[in-house]
Amino acid sequence: MPTYSYECKKCGHEFDIVQRIVDDALTDCPECKAKDELKKVIKAGDGGFALKGKGWFKTGGY
Ligand SMILES: [Zn+2]
Repeated sequence: MPTYSYECKKCGHEFDIVQRIVDDALTDCPECKAKDELKKVIKAGDGGFALKGKGWFKTGGY
């Protein structure tokens, strides 16, 4: 299951949550209870993936 990161535009609270793809995106902040203030943060440069990519590149360049 993918992990989604959300950031609250109101209080700045950031958190990760594991959701199924079919689950609706969250809209309410669990911290300050603000409604419709969450935005989904897309982590394009995920650390684990980047490390794996480097290792693969090294192996391939042998
Ligand atoms: Zn908040």
